Amino acid sequence: APETGQRPGLLGRLFARGDGRTVVRRTLDDDMLEQLEELLIASDMGVDTALRVTANMAEGRYGKKLSTEEIKQLLAQEIARIMEPVAKPMPLYPKRPQVVLVVGVNGSGKTTTIGKLASQFKAAGKKVVIAAGDTFRAAAVEQLQVWGDRAGVPVLTAPEGSDPASLAFDALTKAQADGADLLMIDTAGRLQNRADLMEELAKIVRVIRKIDETAPHNTLLVLDATTGQNALSQVETFRKLADVSGLVMTKLDGTAKGGVLVALADKFGLPIHAIGVGEQIDDLAPFDPEEFAAALTG
Ligand code: GDP
Repeated sequence: APETGQRPGLLGRLFARGDGRTVVRRTLDDDMLEQLEELLIASDMGVDTALRVTANMAEGRYGKKLSTEEIKQLLAQEIARIMEPVAKPMPLYPKRPQVVLVVGVNGSGKTTTIGKLASQFKAAGKKVVIAAGDTFRAAAVEQLQVWGDRAGVPVLTAPEGSDPASLAFDALTKAQADGADLLMIDTAGRLQNRADLMEELAKIVRVIRKIDETAPHNTLLVLDATTGQNALSQVETFRKLADVSGLVMTKLDGTAKGGVLVALADKFGLPIHAIGVGEQIDDLAPFDPEEFAAALTG
């Protein structure tokens, strides 16, 4: 299984001494808690979440002398506690075709994630169809076709600049006729003109509901973990534009500090369906809270 990343752990720095040896025991006092808070904030966890985590760690233990290993485990435990409720794979419904709308800003990894998901669902025996709904970006359509080929999944396209809603309608009609299990619809990610994008997404939803009033069954927001705290404002924005049902966090293989996932879980409670851990087709992993917490604190 792909690893969640080679990020240097949060606590390594805290426990390092000038002479190169490691501190063995520390008292859980104000000084220690403040240092912890700073580390958590520096990991993109945000002030509110960092304070909550350290307060929970101190509860019933304030002033106690703990081994550094105990402190590490405590921190990992508090982080895992926040993350456990959001670690949920994308729900699959008996509905055929299940319609998955994929939203997110350009560059977040939408195209790549659609390709990876298509490959996984196909491997699980599902018949998958992709609709290249970002009809205004020719490069995006081409890239999606490359991923469709890699995954062995058909990609439905429309002429450049044509109405994405009309493509979505045609795609759902075809997916239905072909007996597909899943239709994944890519969408535009230009936030420069939010009113436009909102109207575009709303129209896609309106039009596919003419065929299936329960669609879309999932609305995935793809977020780039390396954007740090920016991911929080993207969630806020996209929740206004679409009925976001779950998240995919990409680029967790890089130098992303990852703390933003904890802030997201704490603030929005939206399920994290999967994490992107590389640029290859198999580099999509389920979100594992314990593994994540251990990697973050490590
Ligand atoms: P889109 O504009 O949102 O469709 O984004 P793309 O899917 O084209 O991805 C943008 C860039 O991020 C590409 O260079 C991808 O290879 C890269 N990328 C996407 N997901 C991941 C990931 O999980 N890890 C890494 N390292 N790169 C990723």
